[in-house]
Amino acid sequence: MSRITEQRTRQFEPTGASLQRGRSKAKPALVTTLPSVRAALAVCAHPDDESFGLGAILAALAERTTAVRTLCFTHGEASTLGNTCRPLGEVRTEELRAAAEVLGIEDVAVCSYSDGHLGEVPVETLAEMVEQVLGDAELLIVFDQGGITSHPDHCQATQAALTAARRHDLPVLAWTLPEQVAVELNAEHGTSFVGRSPSEVDIVAEVDRNRQLSAIACHASQSGDNPVMWHRLELLGDKEYLRWLWLPWLGREKYSTRSSP
Ligand SMILES: [Zn+2]
Repeated sequence: MSRITEQRTRQFEPTGASLQRGRSKAKPALVTTLPSVRAALAVCAHPDDESFGLGAILAALAERTTAVRTLCFTHGEASTLGNTCRPLGEVRTEELRAAAEVLGIEDVAVCSYSDGHLGEVPVETLAEMVEQVLGDAELLIVFDQGGITSHPDHCQATQAALTAARRHDLPVLAWTLPEQVAVELNAEHGTSFVGRSPSEVDIVAEVDRNRQLSAIACHASQSGDNPVMWHRLELLGDKEYLRWLWLPWLGREKYSTRSSP
């Protein structure tokens, strides 16, 4: 299994610079499974991020008895996709709720920040929204720093989650892309995907995409003409790549990712 990567213990400062702590000499364990937690909160910028991006991961967690909830900062009204006779934000919020049900997400909180302008909202303000819906979450799940697609809204949502997580000593796990996938997508589609080298990836998990595909279908306004997403899913196959952005309790078994139950 050449794609299996090593689990490292590390944390990131607000600037993104990594700091090694403890266990630095020990040989890291191989990690191919998602962490086992009782409750997780996915923090997203737009309706469809939870499905197009995090769908397979969230579905896998929900199937493994993790209570998954989602916070979405916008209604996605600024999308250039979707030709509807109703307000797009309204349509996309309905699509989000339908997709969440398919994925096994127990609750969806949607804020009304302006789509495309999250970067103009102070990260502190967004972090307070995260804190309001944290509940019993033991883990936050986000898009990687860099926003996967370089979308500033994605980057800001991740920063908000990180800010809230640090205040509450909660780990933050980011969905990411392998560098070669980003390179291939950018070459083919002229996109701005941000990928990670193998040394920056902490978990490579095999996933079942069936629920994700059903959730994607719920986002009819966005998935009908989206060749980039389909190409990405094709390149990823049955694997998802993740990295820890913040691990407050390094070495704790709970977050060191155990084998599948
Ligand atoms: Zn998005």
